[in-house]
Amino acid sequence: MKVMIDPGHNYSGGDTGASGNGLREQDVTFGIADKLRILFEGNGDEVKMTRTRLDANVGTSEQDSIQRRYTMANEWGADLFISIHCNSGGGTGTEVLVYRLDSEAAQIARRVEDAIVSELGMADRGVKARPELGVLRGTKCPAILVETGFLDNAHDARLLRDDQQGFADAIFHGVTGLKGVRELTEPSAIVWEYTHRGIVLDGPGMIAEMEQNPDGRLYWLARKALQYMREHDI
Ligand SMILES: [Zn+2]
Repeated sequence: MKVMIDPGHNYSGGDTGASGNGLREQDVTFGIADKLRILFEGNGDEVKMTRTRLDANVGTSEQDSIQRRYTMANEWGADLFISIHCNSGGGTGTEVLVYRLDSEAAQIARRVEDAIVSELGMADRGVKARPELGVLRGTKCPAILVETGFLDNAHDARLLRDDQQGFADAIFHGVTGLKGVRELTEPSAIVWEYTHRGIVLDGPGMIAEMEQNPDGRLYWLARKALQYMREHDI
């Protein structure tokens, strides 16, 4: 799948985002988007970002910025467009916006909304049709715009600052249907799982080898293979 990830707004100039609680929307959206990129790449998908660096700007005005973003997706032939934003203006919770509600995009949006609500405990503001939004109207492929949370709400802002990985994980789980399983990283926990499944007999020996060589292939492969099994209920 070709996934175009759109970190909402620009670092500076035209089309900068909202702010609140010491956070700027354009920085948060890039942080979440870049983590999301890594997840899709790890899944074997082709990924492009509309803004490839934190301090990059797309276009000079808001209108120009939006037009360039959906044009990039259309010219590349993206299969899915995911725009990441933060809300503001007094409220709390997550909502996912689509061009229309009877669409493939709306089904994806519903799963993403559910994953963020269940995995991060965000308030459920639902999936909404916003046909006037340029990135939803201009894209040829299914497009969703995730309003992750409110920057001007203390609870939402704390999560947007401290758990950007959690938002990326939840969006990825919602889109792909992969389960919300956090990766085990402790050698003892990983080896316990393998021992429990009857795959590994010498548990202590394997733990020792992984601890002695944390950059080694055994630790990497053991972690990744277990994560795959856990996500696919193997
Ligand atoms: Zn925004």
